[in-house]
Amino acid sequence: MAVKTIKDLDLAGKKVFTRVDFNVPRTEQGTVADDTKIRAALPTINYLLEQGAAVILASHLGRPKGKCVEELRLGAVAEKLQELLNVEVLKSFEVVGPETEALAQKLQPGQVMLLENVRFHPGEEKNDPQLAQAYAQLADLFVSDAFATAHRAHASNVGVAEYLPAAAGFLMQKEIENLTQTLHNAKKPVVAIVGGSKTADKIGVIKNFLKLADVILLGGGMANTFLKAKGYQLGKSLVEEDQVDNAAKIMQEAADLNVNLCLPEDVTVASAIDDTAGAETVAVDAIPAEKMALDIGPQTVSRYADLIAQAGTVIWNGPLGVFEVDAFAQGTIAIAKAVAEASAFSLIGGGDVVAAVEKAGVASQISHLSTGGGATLEFWEGKELPGIAVLKDKGED
Ligand code: ADP
Ligand code: MG
Repeated sequence: MAVKTIKDLDLAGKKVFTRVDFNVPRTEQGTVADDTKIRAALPTINYLLEQGAAVILASHLGRPKGKCVEELRLGAVAEKLQELLNVEVLKSFEVVGPETEALAQKLQPGQVMLLENVRFHPGEEKNDPQLAQAYAQLADLFVSDAFATAHRAHASNVGVAEYLPAAAGFLMQKEIENLTQTLHNAKKPVVAIVGGSKTADKIGVIKNFLKLADVILLGGGMANTFLKAKGYQLGKSLVEEDQVDNAAKIMQEAADLNVNLCLPEDVTVASAIDDTAGAETVAVDAIPAEKMALDIGPQTVSRYADLIAQAGTVIWNGPLGVFEVDAFAQGTIAIAKAVAEASAFSLIGGGDVVAAVEKAGVASQISHLSTGGGATLEFWEGKELPGIAVLKDKGED
């Protein structure tokens, strides 16, 4: 069942409650440090305006936990949006209530307003039906473009769809289409790369990747737990002892399913997570007792890059080393370049790995960089995301 999209809606003269993801990084002065997320929502907002709709925007920012936090007001976001859209953005100082209602009531086709940070309201994260109804009363239609929150069932991205016809915006649609393509009809061979720090968070994804990938390349902190399961000594490296059994089970399952699950054969080690800590490369059977494995080594990079070059599809979550420190960023950067050069359809998802690919300077050569962190992971785990489920075309009109 496909989702409805804004192209399926009759928008002229309608008020559209539009959930976007303006959860942007901020400077110390509270201005917008990076406007990527705002720019990502512009195609949808512009389309709604061109079609003669009035646009009521809603977003969260940070984690205010149901109360007003002055530093998390959306004023700076409204200013940035106004600059990028070149249309006046009317800003309410409350989530819902008389001021918001009055602004929404007067809103004309071609005009834009922005509610206050929806997570200031205690009902937002509880998916309170009263709040969802209050959102719905402002508008005629609901459009969701906030893929990054799709794994959460909150009032502004799920609850409101109970009371209004719902459809996906362009960004949401693009995410769903690209991610769906990696789960179904992916061009073979499918190479999945999984890194990052927490094994426990990645087990679900790896399990699902066992069903769809031909090759799985592991790296980063979580690969240490797999190396441990194979009997290697990891020194002072990050290892999740309680996940060692799970790692062993996954390796057995991969063997049974004929999936080529690869572990690093060499790693960059150091005594501290620091550029000056004397990083050196060792084989995985020679990790010194007082050191930590912090990156994949050059032999591993070369073996992984060969497999990536032959891929039809590459899917990647989690960096392969501590990329924030240059001495341990080399493996991730080399693999990012290999993915960029490959002819494969490539989809990269996860806050840190996307930052690493940007650091490598190859972001524009990736087929799709997902805007979701947790949402992308849950999608790849094979779960139905509540924020997508409410957009499904029920065929009632
Ligand atoms: P993503 O955001 O892409 O899903 P994660 O949040 O799972 O990725 O993991 C990112 C973190 O993993 C980074 O902060 C990185 O420093 C850390 N990391 C990667 N490799 C290692 C390692 N070998 N040891 C410790 N931490 C690591
Ligand atoms: Mg992360």
